[in-house]
Amino acid sequence: MRNGLTVVTGAGGFIGGALVSDLRRRGFTRIRAVDIKPLEEWYQVSEGVENLVLDLNLKDRCDAVSQGAQQVFNLAANMGGMGFIENNKALCMLSVLINTHMLEAARNHGVQRYFYSSSACVYNADKQRDTNNPGLKEEDAYPALAEDGYGWEKLFSERMCRHFREDFGIETRVARFHNVYGPLGTWDGGREKAPAAICRKVIEAKLSGRHEISIWGSGNQTRSFMYIDDCLKGIQSIMDSNILEPINLGSSEMVTINQLVDITEEIAGIKLKRSYDLSAPKGVNGRNSDNALIRKYLGWEPSTPLKVGMEKTYRWIHDEYLARENSRAVLQQR
Ligand code: NAD
Repeated sequence: MRNGLTVVTGAGGFIGGALVSDLRRRGFTRIRAVDIKPLEEWYQVSEGVENLVLDLNLKDRCDAVSQGAQQVFNLAANMGGMGFIENNKALCMLSVLINTHMLEAARNHGVQRYFYSSSACVYNADKQRDTNNPGLKEEDAYPALAEDGYGWEKLFSERMCRHFREDFGIETRVARFHNVYGPLGTWDGGREKAPAAICRKVIEAKLSGRHEISIWGSGNQTRSFMYIDDCLKGIQSIMDSNILEPINLGSSEMVTINQLVDITEEIAGIKLKRSYDLSAPKGVNGRNSDNALIRKYLGWEPSTPLKVGMEKTYRWIHDEYLARENSRAVLQQR
């Protein structure tokens, strides 16, 4: 596969950008990276890569980018944290166009392998009512009661990958990501997820001297968070494997949001007064990844400790924050 053409969609985004860099590092020579965002907004732009700005909601664009491709990583989607997905259900569901047209194009162009990034949001809400979540097993997606909008689109698209494999012989692979975080991702603007949002809020509190933080929900909701390096290793291992069914790709280190704030405060060397916004979007009460299946297939699971990954993430957001404030100050002086 290293010398065949690899297409990465959503390459201007957090995980897609990191994946392109990782493929380059691992010696992939022919990469086509695609995103709808203007190039200057991509988190990473790798050299020696064909970087294309195209709208993959459109069938002919999907067809064009799939020409000559040996493998496709489809990571493009309209997405964000709870604040975004609870308020943009139609937009989230429209990502079905991307996967539909990309699968069709893959079929027409004889693509050998196709990776689809699904999500823990496919899981049945009834299995996530208790904060003490024992870990979601792959079978817990059915009977279906997915996250409204975003989760239903993911569940449908997973299913379409399965049927394209069964009916048309495309080797599709599907991973259900559980909250991915790390440097070079969204940390502001409304689409950011909890780890980045909390880093930003702690940084803001520290720099402003207003030692307060507002937390969405009661702070007792539980989640697990996967560091980007683990995500990249998992994507490659699943793509290269014979795992046919959708599989969890997430950390099983479950924490409450309050504990996530504790960790971030410790990294920042500060203690903040907490207030809880119970009317804010907060998602399910409890979510964790059950990793029995991935351990069975790969003898591996994501294992970067949250504290270690958060330190790197905090430092990166801190630098980005300062750089943004400095450029605002320069603009104001003009
Ligand atoms: P991201 O928002 O940073 O990246 C997605 C990219 O897709 C964006 O750059 C966006 O511009 C692009 N895109 C959207 N619509 C497009 C279109 N019509 N044509 C071309 N490009 C388009 O998100 P991410 O965190 O990198 O997520 C990547 C994938 O992983 C997504 O499918 C997402 O649903 C899935 N996922 C992510 C997480 C997570 O925690 N980050 C969790 C579960 C699933």
